[in-house]
Amino acid sequence: MSDGFQDALKEFEGLPAAEAGVGKDLVNEAMIRHWCEAMGDANPAYAGPEAMAPPTMLQAWTMGGLGGHAGRSKAQDELFALLEGAGYTSVVATDCEQEYLRPLRIGDAITFDAVIESVSEQKTTKLGTGHFVTTRMDVRAGGEPAGTHRFRILKYAPAQRKPKASGEPGKSGGPGKSGGPGKKPAQRPRPVINRDNAGFWEGVGQHKLLIQKCGGCGELRLPWLPGCNACGSQEWDTVEASGEGTVFSYVVMHHPPFPAFDPPYAVGLIELAEGVRMISNVVGVPHDQVRIGMPVRLEFLRVDEELELPVFRGSES
Ligand code: ZN
Repeated sequence: MSDGFQDALKEFEGLPAAEAGVGKDLVNEAMIRHWCEAMGDANPAYAGPEAMAPPTMLQAWTMGGLGGHAGRSKAQDELFALLEGAGYTSVVATDCEQEYLRPLRIGDAITFDAVIESVSEQKTTKLGTGHFVTTRMDVRAGGEPAGTHRFRILKYAPAQRKPKASGEPGKSGGPGKSGGPGKKPAQRPRPVINRDNAGFWEGVGQHKLLIQKCGGCGELRLPWLPGCNACGSQEWDTVEASGEGTVFSYVVMHHPPFPAFDPPYAVGLIELAEGVRMISNVVGVPHDQVRIGMPVRLEFLRVDEELELPVFRGSES
């Protein structure tokens, strides 16, 4: 693509994606209840006529449904038409970030504006080559700022699937692992570290498995969350796991093959002595000898220079 095309994309940065949008419904008990049922979230703060809406519903109140929104801007349509005309015909949502400024309560009237925040340079991912488009939506309740929803998509031209190399017709197994000479071995995926779980990974770096302990009701929780599902408190401390546990359940992965993993291997749901559970690898035992109830002990596996993971060593007995 010529630089002219990139310049044309950049012209869209800062233009509105939606103007003076109005939520189709007031914040209401029925939508909150459906959401909580779908999410399996029984937090009492979200129930009843005094309920607040789960913060992650922020975008739900702005959705236009099949009919769309009257406030949708022409700029958004033009940007997509430009990208599609250049061959970037596919789309995938890649990530979203939300920031909450005040709780939404039943009866709140939602209004919003959205802006095309950025259009990236051409990037190539495993899916194909394209441009990331980031949109920021500012959501208001009763006219006051209530939160921000930042949403990123990739508009891309799908990568062509490589035809099977001739000369190895029956070869099975996934890409990556066997590799050619000089090919870097596939890396195990990195954990996604954010403000809510950074402490957990700092603990791992010090060979400690840290469990969150609610400052309100004392309930232990793992994986880490910003608040307590039992009492709603956002105060918390940590306790270090003793490292003892048992296999509560497990699966043996055969397929699909992922680069950097060597199937078959066992993935365990480990119940720690403290009562909380976590998913990790069971090591030291052949995959077909992992059993429910098997005692396991925590250890830290150095995967590569940057990555260490808590895993559980099984003991055959
Ligand atoms: Zn609690």
